[in-house]
Amino acid sequence: DPAPLDLKRYIREVPDFPKAGILFYDISTLIRNADAWQIATARLAESVLKFQPDMLAGIESRGFLTAAPLAMRLGCGFTMLRKPGKLPGETISHAYGLEYGHDELHLQVDAVRPGQRVVVLDDLLATGGTLAASVDLLRKAGAHVVGASVLIELAALKGREKLDVPVTSLLTYE
Ligand code: 5GP
Repeated sequence: DPAPLDLKRYIREVPDFPKAGILFYDISTLIRNADAWQIATARLAESVLKFQPDMLAGIESRGFLTAAPLAMRLGCGFTMLRKPGKLPGETISHAYGLEYGHDELHLQVDAVRPGQRVVVLDDLLATGGTLAASVDLLRKAGAHVVGASVLIELAALKGREKLDVPVTSLLTYE
């Protein structure tokens, strides 16, 4: 068997982005490589499948890249957690603090059916504020949030401790 692909080789580490002192983990360099993206998606699918989801939710915008290919692969629906002003119709929202700055996420009130098993996805887990806000929102919409999954986890920030659902990550950095 060939050696398993080391996906960390495809993550570019960019110092001082988006501001001084932040080390940014860039997934652009992973998804622009067809093999690396296929393998990342396949590995993520394995962990997400264990949650037996009916629906995947992706957080704008890199969470869409993470969740949408998985939803196709697993035969799930896909729903979008979006920045303000993007979704038509009635929405519910949640404001939250970020590793750098603050933001607000919106979800259409009819985005999920009551009790649907939903897994929420993003590219990266840092402080956990974004995913925690997403879990709250999905619950407000009636979802049964069964898990959260990310490509990258910054373990030192202990974001998973902010979440009361099981979390899986493909790549961990200290
Ligand atoms: P948290 O809310 O967990 O502190 O931050 C996670 C959110 O910020 C995610 O939506 C993620 O896309 C973004 N983010 C924070 N730091 C990074 C990073 O180094 N790389 C990438 N790709 N996204 C980041």
